Amino acid sequence: MRFHSTRNAGETATLSEALARGIAPDGGLYVPDSFPRFSVSDFDGLDGIAAVAPRFLAPLFAGDPLESQLPAIVAEAFDFPVPVKPLPVAHDASVLELFHGPTAAFKDFGARFLAACMARIPRPSGRTLTILVATSGDTGGAVAAAFHGRPGMEVVVLFPRGLVSPRQELQLTCWGGNVRSLSVAGTFDDCQRLVKAAFADPALSAHRELSSANSINIGRLLPQACYYVATSLAGYRRTGQKVNFIVPSGNLGNVLAAVWARKMGLPIGELVLTFNANRTVPDFLDSGVWAPRPSVATLASAMDVGNPSNMERLRHLHPEHAELLAAVRATSVSDAAIEARIRTDRTALGETWCPHTACAAETYALLSEEDKAKGPWILVGTAHPAKFPETVEPLVGHPIPVPDSLAKLLSLPRSVTEVPATLEALAAVLQ
Ligand SMILES: *Cc1c(COP(=O)(O)O)cnc(C)c1O
Repeated sequence: MRFHSTRNAGETATLSEALARGIAPDGGLYVPDSFPRFSVSDFDGLDGIAAVAPRFLAPLFAGDPLESQLPAIVAEAFDFPVPVKPLPVAHDASVLELFHGPTAAFKDFGARFLAACMARIPRPSGRTLTILVATSGDTGGAVAAAFHGRPGMEVVVLFPRGLVSPRQELQLTCWGGNVRSLSVAGTFDDCQRLVKAAFADPALSAHRELSSANSINIGRLLPQACYYVATSLAGYRRTGQKVNFIVPSGNLGNVLAAVWARKMGLPIGELVLTFNANRTVPDFLDSGVWAPRPSVATLASAMDVGNPSNMERLRHLHPEHAELLAAVRATSVSDAAIEARIRTDRTALGETWCPHTACAAETYALLSEEDKAKGPWILVGTAHPAKFPETVEPLVGHPIPVPDSLAKLLSLPRSVTEVPATLEALAAVLQ
């Protein structure tokens, strides 16, 4: 399989090249040249993400130097539980808990898989590989955790100062060693812009190998598709019906993986994207006019994205607006509705949601009876509520127990550099 840029089908790369580059040389995002087609029976006898992943990813890794390493990469990356928990509601609905990895958010899937791949890609130059990552809160911690201590690689994390939760900030700044954390005077969109500018700057990339671990990197999307494969197969085998997902969305990396899995023939029905007050995508679906704008701060801060980069991949797949409308729906949830939903479902369902997962729960609650009866619905749980105690604890009225792996990180000393949101400042750190 080869991969090409969303901006030019002639700009191609092997999987290893696409992983190492992050972004294509023309500024586009890598997509597969063709989508392999699967049927449910291709996965007979395989159950769970670690079992289905090698089968699903095989055609995408075919012909690449990493092909023979795929089983080892999967085993290394997917070594934590991925429970699907039925909810006590009238229809068939469950929550897919993607937050049992080392940093308690779904970003661990992509980050661990990408690190496992990058560690196995031969780099003849012998130069240090610098991974640049802009984060709205969870990506940076997951990437730092996945790359920390790996020889020949360093990580530079950019996060928006004051706009991530205190516990997320601890996770971003607790590493030291080959991880440097930059607290940027700006928003997530500024951080993302700086990373893109660094890649485009010939002077910066002349002296080092730069790569990105943001969801523009296809190495993040492929592992995320695997939990949609496993979950849709399990739901389909149980009910004979396609499985519908509600996905808390920001940069669209998570839901794009689901769109691709469905495109490849997995039994996935509806995909509902749920956003916070950052309405760029819902407004686009309504109006047909793409109008990115500055992000606004919300309780679901990891979704505070005003110019979602993976929209480029989604529109590449569905260039016609009508086609896009048939492929996905979108909702937007206010902070007040997030708070009310966390409070309500604590009592009604016995579930404690993080503010992002609460957007999915709110969207589910507002579905029509007809929609709810359409077969199994999966609410995608993107982070553990213990990452957001300042928001969640007052609403549920009790302290939230912290998972062990998270508690360990929170107790480490901090190291962080404050920088303005300029390329000069980032360049100075990199020199
Ligand atoms: C990153 C993140 C999201 C948004 O995911 P995208 O892939 O950017 O759409 C939602 N919830 C949490 C907890 C996140 O960390």
